[in-house]
Amino acid sequence: MNIVPLEIGPPNSPWLGGGTESGLRKAGLELAMAAGEYASSRHAAMKNDPHAKFTRALIGAAQEANSRVNYRAPYYLDMLHELGGYETACQLIHRSSPSDGFTRLWERKALDLTVEAYVLRPEWSALFQRPDLVEAYERLKRYKYDFPAGSWNPNGMPATTPAAPATPAGSDSGEPPDRIQATVYRILRDTAVARAVKQLLDYKCQICGASIMLPDGHSYAEAHHVRPLGGDHLGEDVASNVLCLCPNHHAECDLGVRPLALATLTRVWGHEPLQANVDYHNQKIYRR
Ligand SMILES: [Zn+2]
Repeated sequence: MNIVPLEIGPPNSPWLGGGTESGLRKAGLELAMAAGEYASSRHAAMKNDPHAKFTRALIGAAQEANSRVNYRAPYYLDMLHELGGYETACQLIHRSSPSDGFTRLWERKALDLTVEAYVLRPEWSALFQRPDLVEAYERLKRYKYDFPAGSWNPNGMPATTPAAPATPAGSDSGEPPDRIQATVYRILRDTAVARAVKQLLDYKCQICGASIMLPDGHSYAEAHHVRPLGGDHLGEDVASNVLCLCPNHHAECDLGVRPLALATLTRVWGHEPLQANVDYHNQKIYRR
């Protein structure tokens, strides 16, 4: 789970296109895109990339892999252009097995050029959350990577995960509680698929229908991966595993205090949540 700036929708997600259905289709990397569409969305994606420096660094690493160890990675470059470096890194890191590129670079003794190694570099590690960093670190460690000085490690600084704010004593404990000022970060990560689902649902919560109107006229909602992506859950980043929820219902689902039932959710054409993921939530996440 990651901190990202609040995702406000709708219009500027470049891969979403105009229509909602085409937006969803484009969000899935696995689906082919027409060449012209692809070129324009690629251009738009790069222009709006909030982590363009990191993206450029990864493109540079891919170029170095080509020149130094003769490894070409066209699919990886497509991902970088399409999703940007940050999202590409998150997706690759959280796959259950190393990418093809990772193993090829390992064979060529060039693990330092992997996305995992880049994520841990001191200049980039602050972009990522501890679970991302731990996954990258563990994978490199399994492949006996010789970590350079300054590379992030789990025993060092706790990445950018903020400390939980101190909780004041309850009002029933005698002394009146002091007021404290605390900044609370919602821990979120939106993928292209998540953004597409929110757009399909018009930023309305699938449980209660609520949408938060922002002062600039955009609507705000959150995307919930029903079967979580990280850890042991191995959920997939696909539309059938994503719900559009208001912040309260998102938190309830994350915290395991709410069971889910497909029949009670608002549904729209083109978005089919998978019963198996709902079952997973009810059995593994929801605490009875
Ligand atoms: Zn709601």
